[in-house]
Amino acid sequence: ASPARDRLRIAIQKSGRLAEPARSLLAACGLSWRQSRDKLFCYGESLPVDLLLVRDDDIPGLIADGVCDLGIVGRNELDEQAAERRRNGMPDAYQSLRGLGFGQCRLMLAVPEEWEWRGVEQLAGLRIATSYPAILADWLERQGVDAQVVELSGSVEIAPRLGTADLICDLVSSGATLAANQLKPVETLLESEAVLAGAVREPNDMRAGLLAMLLKRVDGVLHQRDSKLLMFRAAGEQQVDALRRLLPDADPIERLPDDGSGALRLQTMCHGAVTWQRLEELERAGAQGLTVLTVERSLA
Ligand code: ATP
Ligand code: MG
Repeated sequence: ASPARDRLRIAIQKSGRLAEPARSLLAACGLSWRQSRDKLFCYGESLPVDLLLVRDDDIPGLIADGVCDLGIVGRNELDEQAAERRRNGMPDAYQSLRGLGFGQCRLMLAVPEEWEWRGVEQLAGLRIATSYPAILADWLERQGVDAQVVELSGSVEIAPRLGTADLICDLVSSGATLAANQLKPVETLLESEAVLAGAVREPNDMRAGLLAMLLKRVDGVLHQRDSKLLMFRAAGEQQVDALRRLLPDADPIERLPDDGSGALRLQTMCHGAVTWQRLEELERAGAQGLTVLTVERSLA
């Protein structure tokens, strides 16, 4: 067990895809830091919560060793290191506490474009290049297929052309990298996004209260992020029914006090995207004076 501490420490990626969204999420939670000169450790100013800026590969280990209490890392990286620990007979050390809604990607098998894909049985005896050997090995075992895992730390997508592997297992978001290398995705092993990870054993000192507060703020930010207050008027009940059907992702429509104008004054919290097109549909269904307000902050 790590020694008692009275400050919380969060590891995030120093630079890369998750660096900026992770920082802005924590900033939205009310955290601010004094930038240190070495830029590896940022001392928390508004709250006793410090940041450690590292490579994403190091984040699970920092949590496992108790150096950090929390980390923001891709589920792919967390699961890979968890699977590796399990394969080596080590106990679970970390858990995903919250999915954060950014850094979405999939861990997929991709084969040369000219292949005709008939299913996983086709993999028997083939070589698969990947940076996720433990997840891939687990998956192959579950599928009951005997294929060879070729571990590569980078540039996995050129392995088939170089002849070091027959196919690959790699992260895919838009698919552009695969297409550029004449590969096509055929199977999904994991749906990934950035997660807030913590130790399996929660701290039992000063940090426990900080952790609970931070989680509550994260929930508030995640919930508020795609919530919009929609205010409008309608002539009568019939319109309200029609509008309700166009708002399946919104809370029940609330009625505001009558202002003497003869129209109903209404509002609802909408939890999906409120596009121009949606507003135009609502207007055609009888909503007047539509106004969309963003939510600054909320405690659920
Ligand atoms: P580091 O220097 O910190 O080790 P990295 O090169 O390993 O950085 P990035 O490329 O910045 O990592 O990706 C970080 C995470 O972003 C990935 O682990 C994954 O969860 C997520 N991600 C989202 N889309 C993609 C994608 N198309 N390719 C790779 N990672 C992606
Ligand atoms: Mg990395």
